[in-house]
Amino acid sequence: MANKRSDNPAGGQADRGRHSGHGSPGGHGKRGGHGGGRPGRGGRHGRKEDRPMRHGAERSHEGPPAAADEPSPDAWFMGHDRRTVKEIVATDAGELARAGLTAEKAAQILQKVLDSAMAAMGAEVDFAGGRLKAVCRESMGKLPCPLASCGLLAKGQVELTDTQTGRIFLIAPLSVHLIANHRFLQGRGSDYRIEPEDLAQLVKLLG
Ligand SMILES: [Zn+2]
Repeated sequence: MANKRSDNPAGGQADRGRHSGHGSPGGHGKRGGHGGGRPGRGGRHGRKEDRPMRHGAERSHEGPPAAADEPSPDAWFMGHDRRTVKEIVATDAGELARAGLTAEKAAQILQKVLDSAMAAMGAEVDFAGGRLKAVCRESMGKLPCPLASCGLLAKGQVELTDTQTGRIFLIAPLSVHLIANHRFLQGRGSDYRIEPEDLAQLVKLLG
C-alpha cells in the first residue's frame, strides 16, 4: 500500500509553502528523545524530592525486577504531564474508546508506517494517496523499555507529515511498543505523544 514517492502527486495541493518539510535536513526542531542524547533532564529543580525512592541499592534484590516503579515525572516520555502513567492510560483508554479505536489497532497502524519508513532508509514513503509522507530520520542502536522489563527496542524515529495540515507526528519503535504493550500514549508535551483523536484520524487515513 505504501508506494514510494512519486514526484508531484497529480492534482497537487496548493499548500506547499505551508510546510516544506522535506529537503531541509534537520530544519525543524523536533528531535531528540529516542534518538538519544536528550538534553535538559533534571538539574533545574531542587524542589520536591520527596517522591518515594527505592530504599537504597543495598536491598535491591528483593521482589521481582519486572515492573518498574512509577517513572519519574521528569522522564522524557512524560512531557509536561503531571499525571501518573496509570492516570494517563486510563484517560486515554476512554478517549480511544470514544474514537472507536483500540490501542492495539493504533499500534498496528503506526507499526506499519514505522516498518515501511525504516525499510526505506531515509527515502520518503507515501501513504494515503500521498497525503501522508513518512521519513525515517535515524535508526541506530537500542534502548530499553522504560516501563517494564520488556527488553531492548530499536532506536530511531520516523516523521510522519500530514501534508494537508502540515502537522508532523513522530513515531518511534519505543513509542509504538508503549502503545501496543502498555496502552501508554505518553504524557502531554512528549514529542512522541499522539492524541487519541489524531490517532483515530491517522488510522482512518492509513487503514
Ligand atoms: Zn515495555
